[in-house]
Amino acid sequence: MRNVALLFENYLRGKDLRLTKQRAEILRVIFATHRHISADELYEMLRQGKSKELRISRATVYRTLSLLEEGGFIQGLDLGRDGGRLYEHVLGHDHHDHMVCLDCGRIIEFHDDELEAVQARAVQRHGFVARSHRLNIYGTCETCLSASQDQDKASSGNGAGAGEG
Ligand SMILES: [Zn+2]
Ligand SMILES: [Zn+2]
Ligand SMILES: [Zn+2]
Repeated sequence: MRNVALLFENYLRGKDLRLTKQRAEILRVIFATHRHISADELYEMLRQGKSKELRISRATVYRTLSLLEEGGFIQGLDLGRDGGRLYEHVLGHDHHDHMVCLDCGRIIEFHDDELEAVQARAVQRHGFVARSHRLNIYGTCETCLSASQDQDKASSGNGAGAGEG
């Protein structure tokens, strides 16, 4: 964690910015959280406990999040539809990709070696040097899918199959 703070301090210096107590606290909290959180959730977390004394404004939270994302410390994840956005730290975290359910907002993290290898080959073919990538698949999760199927069954009533011709 101290390393991350140092890295962030260096990154900020390159932009003529300082690692203020507020920015350091935002960094600490987001790196202590091992799930995907929204800017508003983070803001609420910073209004509790010891963080509260620093009186971090919503604007500071948003600005610091974009700085952290720009610098590759965290990654934003768009939830699709209602334009919600969640963040997670990526430094010190194993690489993974995401499936996002557009119905319930569930996020499934997955890793697939084959998929990674295919991407690596594509990158190579283009003589490109990749630094990072994100793969988000949007759709419907298993739970929502079976819930909607149950509903279909219930609403189709008698269920006497017409059979196929
Ligand atoms: Zn990947
Ligand atoms: Zn779902
Ligand atoms: Zn994730």
